[in-house]
Amino acid sequence: MVDIIVVGGGPAGMTAALYGLRNGKSVLVLEKSGFGGQITHSPKVENWPGTARMSGNEYADAFLEQILDQGAEVDLTEAVKVEDHGTYKTVITAEGEVREGKSVILATGVKHRELGLPGEREMTGEGVSYCAVCDGDFFKGKKVCVAGGGNSALQEAMLLAGKCSQVIMLQDLPEFTGEKKLQELLFARENVSARTGVKIVDLGMDENVQLTGVTIETADGARETIPCDGLFVAIGLIPENGNFGDVARLNEWGYFDSPESCETGTPGIFVAGDCRAKNVRQLTTAAGDGSVAALAACRYVDTL
Ligand SMILES: Cc1cc2nc3c(=O)[nH]c(=O)nc-3n(C[C@H](O)[C@H](O)[C@H](O)COP(=O)(O)OP(=O)(O)OC[C@H]3O[C@@H](n4cnc5c(N)ncnc54)[C@H](O)[C@@H]3O)c2cc1C
Repeated sequence: MVDIIVVGGGPAGMTAALYGLRNGKSVLVLEKSGFGGQITHSPKVENWPGTARMSGNEYADAFLEQILDQGAEVDLTEAVKVEDHGTYKTVITAEGEVREGKSVILATGVKHRELGLPGEREMTGEGVSYCAVCDGDFFKGKKVCVAGGGNSALQEAMLLAGKCSQVIMLQDLPEFTGEKKLQELLFARENVSARTGVKIVDLGMDENVQLTGVTIETADGARETIPCDGLFVAIGLIPENGNFGDVARLNEWGYFDSPESCETGTPGIFVAGDCRAKNVRQLTTAAGDGSVAALAACRYVDTL
């Protein structure tokens, strides 16, 4: 039996592993697709403190090497269930294996909802982005579109309006669904405009796999191509916590309803990173959670 089982090998999970190992605990990290999590989709990361520029893959590879050097056990498998047996917990994998740990840290992250259009994945980081805080600076003085109409999209657009020459909001519903006050503030900006009731149906791509524009379609089928340098997709996040709701309470949007302490209602089970209800989802906040959750797990294990 290990001291800590970490579910999810993204920035939060790997930070949790690092802090557990540095505190002399044995740690097993289960990752279902690829170590590094969401950041591996980003070719350029420029806001990780202390490192001017790196790719998401460089960050992930270096981090995996660091935890392996420190003695982490890792397994490429999906955790499908966590059971609480008081002084120990079991994690069941998709293959039906049962892994035992004294504590569990759930660091399952989120998925950004995609438009699902051809070229979208290839151009992620080359014009298509899911995060204005992360990538907004790459579009200073440029023309961008924002897909979405809820609070996240409005907030993304607000941030971009302070950097970009032009921001065009594209919403498929007849009106924006985000807060009215936010809408007023945003649409008072001279460089922000909006198109409602339009669906993005195509993405333009040049020979360097760089976004050249977006094609929209109105309800009556009319199409128009808007040339632009960037497209920020803000149509929702998908937490993947459903299997674990019986050991860690979920809020109405499916995030773990846990405070800054990263504790859940179940002693010995902690949560960390983007999977937790919070306002800011970044590498720094994921790493912060990972360290908090791991130190709490270490304290818990020491009391057993
Ligand atoms: C394209 C893109 C660019 C970004 N750029 C930046 C940036 O420049 N700067 C910045 O600070 N942030 C950036 N972010 C945000 C940042 O990547 C996230 O905030 C961060 O990765 C969150 O870390 P996490 O570990 O909480 O979750 P995730 O990165 O989502 O990792 C969770 C991991 O858990 C795994 N997992 C989920 N469920 C299970 C399960 N049941 N069993 C096993 N494994 C499981 C997943 O496969 C995943 O690897 C970007 C995000 C994207 C999508």
